[in-house]
Amino acid sequence: MARTILITGGGTGIGRALAEHFAAHGDRVVITGRRPGPLKEAADALTGVAAAVCDHTDPAALHRLVAELPERLDVLVNNAGGQTDFDADGATDLASYARDFRANLDANLLSAALTTRAVDDRLAAGGAVIHIGSIAADQGSGSYGAAKAGLASWNIDLARTLGPRAITANVVSPGYIAGTEFFRDQLADARREHLIAATATGRPGALDDITGAVAFLASPAARHITGQVLNVNGGAYPTR
Ligand code: NDP
Repeated sequence: MARTILITGGGTGIGRALAEHFAAHGDRVVITGRRPGPLKEAADALTGVAAAVCDHTDPAALHRLVAELPERLDVLVNNAGGQTDFDADGATDLASYARDFRANLDANLLSAALTTRAVDDRLAAGGAVIHIGSIAADQGSGSYGAAKAGLASWNIDLARTLGPRAITANVVSPGYIAGTEFFRDQLADARREHLIAATATGRPGALDDITGAVAFLASPAARHITGQVLNVNGGAYPTR
């Protein structure tokens, strides 16, 4: 039977690759994001993929999204997020610091918690919730790392809550993954080489590395794996 899969932030990068993977394997996929452009492009290009605009930090937007979703969800991938400090204006006063810190918490932690809560009664037995974390959680990377670390901690509690309903909850924690919009063209060659040199594999992560891990955690083979963080970083953990 085809599963129904919600992938947040599915218009670009890892989310889009996940949508392509699941749809190619016969699942029905809904992708979301804030920008209609990338969503439309992805939904037009990928058979079996529908798109809905949603800011996952906004409870009202989530209510609107839920009204559009199918009654049953088998898999939720909380992928939306990213390093919001790239958008910071550099102001150093306390109010600006609070605003910028909260932006990362909202984008990477609150978004996942709100989305999971919003669709909770649609999650089907035998299903899976998978969050995209980050190697930053283990490296002390400012508010972004703190948000991703919080995601892993919160996921332990979620796993306990969903476990009796035969639903798993896990984090896939990538290292540097090439081919996404994450770095907004701000990744200097030297930094990129440093990230690759830190791996045991000597290469950047690829989109397929993440889709493989997420697909496994969503599969029947992984029904007793829950409350875990699966690092997909080429052995780079825990270097900086
Ligand atoms: P992208 O920037 O390509 O993808 C992020 C997606 O999330 C975008 O499509 C964006 O769309 C969406 N998004 C962001 N905020 C929101 C929001 N509030 N509501 C809805 N959608 C949102 O980068 P990646 O594919 O690399 O990032 C995917 C995940 O992987 C992120 O959680 C990131 O932190 C994580 N990650 C990535 C790594 C990498 O090296 N690439 C390493 C470690 C973790 P829109 O702007 O239109 O809303």
